[in-house]
Amino acid sequence: MKILVINSGSSSIKYQLFDMNNQSVLVAGILEEIGRTGSTLKHRKNNGNGEFAEFTHSQPVHDHAAGFHLIMEFLAHPTKGWDLSDLSGVGHRIVHGGEAFRLPTLIDKEVISTIKAMIPLAPLHNPANLIGVELALEQFQSVPQVAIFDTAFHQSMPSYAFRYALPNEMYTDYRVRRYGFHGTSHQYVAKQAAKRLHLPLDSVNLISLHLGNGASATAIRQGRSIDTSMGMTPLEGLIMGTRCGDIDPALQGYLVRVTGKTYEEIGTLFEKASGLQGICGSNDMREVVRLAESGDSFGTLALDMFCYRIKKYIGAYFAVLGRVDAIVFTGGIGENSPTVRGRCCESLDSLGIVVDEGLNQHRGREPFSINSDESRVKLLVIPTNEELEIAIQTLELIQARQDSGI
Ligand code: ADP
Repeated sequence: MKILVINSGSSSIKYQLFDMNNQSVLVAGILEEIGRTGSTLKHRKNNGNGEFAEFTHSQPVHDHAAGFHLIMEFLAHPTKGWDLSDLSGVGHRIVHGGEAFRLPTLIDKEVISTIKAMIPLAPLHNPANLIGVELALEQFQSVPQVAIFDTAFHQSMPSYAFRYALPNEMYTDYRVRRYGFHGTSHQYVAKQAAKRLHLPLDSVNLISLHLGNGASATAIRQGRSIDTSMGMTPLEGLIMGTRCGDIDPALQGYLVRVTGKTYEEIGTLFEKASGLQGICGSNDMREVVRLAESGDSFGTLALDMFCYRIKKYIGAYFAVLGRVDAIVFTGGIGENSPTVRGRCCESLDSLGIVVDEGLNQHRGREPFSINSDESRVKLLVIPTNEELEIAIQTLELIQARQDSGI
């Protein structure tokens, strides 16, 4: 059983071909800088002995269609690629499914037009995602293709968590509400956490912290998302690499008035020049920690603010959930930074959260625990794998349809 996963972004296309018999990656790659000068394809092929042969190919790639065809040359190449004749399905990452999509969905014309209707909610992402869908439908005409939405996992939130306290028409007429993102990652680590805790997924309560360049926290009750820190857009919530996270909504108008910048320029500043980058000049947590450890006051402030914001969300979600079985750290920072993990959990013994500093120094690609024996709440580090989760959900949907004879 082979599943191809495609993540078509605004200037890049990522792909992975899985053998779902053992969930191994057969071929993977990323084409970056589409439409710009230095387009480069990085492609890897599993040699069958656990090692990957790597290929880097640079050539001008003017648009997604040209990029997709270049990827297909590598994917189907007799030595660099794999035989795709028995492909079982294609899974597509789609950023915004609005309220229309709560589950993985088989793609047809109607689904495509509903995803198009979500473009105002995700004007940068959904159009790029759809180009990937349309190119793949053309290429693999007889293969079922499935849309997996970043927002779907959070559709289980109750209205008192997803609504903003704005006039009702803002919701009914303009779809203004909290949608949340990183859903596939939160869902994947929740399943892994349940396995590690030897509990059924529908019985676990978790706080899941996806800390990458983008960052979000999710409160999970009985395996389902009941609140999450990102909002209508991914700007809300935690402090991120270049995004400010929670701020006073009046700030945008104030800054337009006092700086002379336009409304759009201030929006871009919140999105691309704020967060860790805005405070200490780097959006790379390794550099932020290095600056803080060398006594740099901006680096120290950035690290303090980043961890303090996460701690506030841990407290809030603890109150919301009542009982927390585990806190899960994932994403590039969550998986790799003992400093951040330790700081987020500091002085939380009264909530039953106690880190074992020795275990916290561990590194590895497999899940591991970092809580001390007396910690009531388990503290887990679980490497995320959104592509694998997309492949799993794609295969589950295809098999369920086969089983029901559709
Ligand atoms: P994205 O959101 O782009 O998928 P990732 O999940 O790959 O991002 O996370 C990227 C972040 O992970 C970078 O900001 C980097 O600072 C951080 N990171 C990676 N390795 C380490 C490390 N060893 N220590 C601290 N932070 C790290």
